[in-house]
Parts: sequence; C-alpha cells; structure tokens
Amino acid sequence: MKFVITAGPTREPIDPVRFLSNRSSGKMGYAIASAAIEAGHEVVLISGPVNLAPPADARLVSVITSDEMYAAVHQAVRDCDVLVMCAAVADYKPARVAKQKIKKRDEKLLLQLAPARDILKSLPRSRDFFVIGFAAETNDVEEHARAKLATKNCDMMVANDLSDPEIGMESDEIAVMIFSRNAESERISRASKKIIARELVKIICANAKKVLTKKF
Ligand code: C5P
Repeated sequence: MKFVITAGPTREPIDPVRFLSNRSSGKMGYAIASAAIEAGHEVVLISGPVNLAPPADARLVSVITSDEMYAAVHQAVRDCDVLVMCAAVADYKPARVAKQKIKKRDEKLLLQLAPARDILKSLPRSRDFFVIGFAAETNDVEEHARAKLATKNCDMMVANDLSDPEIGMESDEIAVMIFSRNAESERISRASKKIIARELVKIICANAKKVLTKKF
C-alpha cells in the first residue's frame, strides 16, 4: 500500500526570528514510517522540524508551517491508500506575521491568534484512501477521541493519554486507544513507540482493506 505519514510539530512564525510551536518530537510518526516500510509498504513522510533521521526508504518532504503541511498533504494524497496524520499541526497561528523583529518594550504584548487550517477537516468526504487521525488528550480521552473521529471525518482515531507524564509526547514509550467508525475500540498497552507502531500498521492495513474498494 502507499502510505502518507505526517510527523512532528509545525512552526507558526510571529516575526522573522520567533515562532509558536509544540513539544512533538516526531518519534511516533517516524516509528510508523519505519514500521510501514518494514512491512513492505511505500512511504511518503511529511515532516515538520525534528531531530530524527528519516527511514532510508521513505520519501521525505520537509515542511515548517501548517500551511506548508496542508499543501504537502493535499499534493501527496492524490496518489495514496492510507493517510496517517500523526503530526502535531498547530491549532492556532499568529493572526499577522510581523515583517521585522518585534522590539522588546516594558509593557504587555498581546498576540492575536487565528485558527490554523485543519488539514483533516479539509479532506474530501468521498475519497479512495483510508484516514487515521491522532488525538493527544490530557482529560476525557475516549469522549474527545470519539468526537474528533466524527468531526474530523476520520476512519480511525488513535488516542494517547497525556495525563501520565512518563509516557507520551517526548518519551520513547506510549499507550494508545484506537477508535473506529463502527464503534469498536482497541487498546494497545504501554510499550515502545517502535512496538506500538508495528501494531498500528497491522491494524491500519486490516481496516483499510475492509473499507477501500480497490484491490491490494
Ligand atoms: O484538534 P486536534 O489538533 O487535537 O486534532 C489532532 C488531529 O488533527 C491530528 O491527527 C492532527 O494531525 C490533525 N490536525 C490537522 N490540522 C490541524 C490541526 C490538527 O489535520 N490544523
């Protein structure tokens, strides 16, 4: 199958030297890319800025901002079977980008934010590829993940609980719950991101084959 996998954070510029970003390390997305290649799939890895070496056989597309990731995803899904939106794309970006470095003053600075374009929501409803979203939550994990599965029009939603500081965003281990449209859910208990990635690729392929009409 042809996988498109997004990974890492985006950076939203405030001025020429500053940006808004998040703590995503990219490890989960890169592990999924490696696992998919290991399982014999083709991989396009669309990555925000991270300190990781991409798997040798992946085609790497490097992006910085959410707008660049939006364009790269729309380009890549023209020829794909599975889209894994693992990247921590910004939800908000500065409403205006200052052309020059903002000078320090001895007073409050108000930064106005505008919603970033939601890549998952922008995908066509009728499509011939399988879509997996990720939900990193600090509370009411199942409720939020199921809501995102529906509002973001995904086929599967992978949720990770960030309330345990030992596992999650920057760590090497993770525990996930997987929610599908048919109301089924599945838990993969705490393990390395490498092991979880292998399990995810198996589950994704099995579910994609059930839903997609094309033959593999
Ligand atoms: O709404 P939230 O950011 O928690 O949703 C996370 C999921 O939505 C992830 O799969 C992420 O890649 C995707 N996302 C997106 N476009 C954005 C923000 C998040 O596709 N602007």
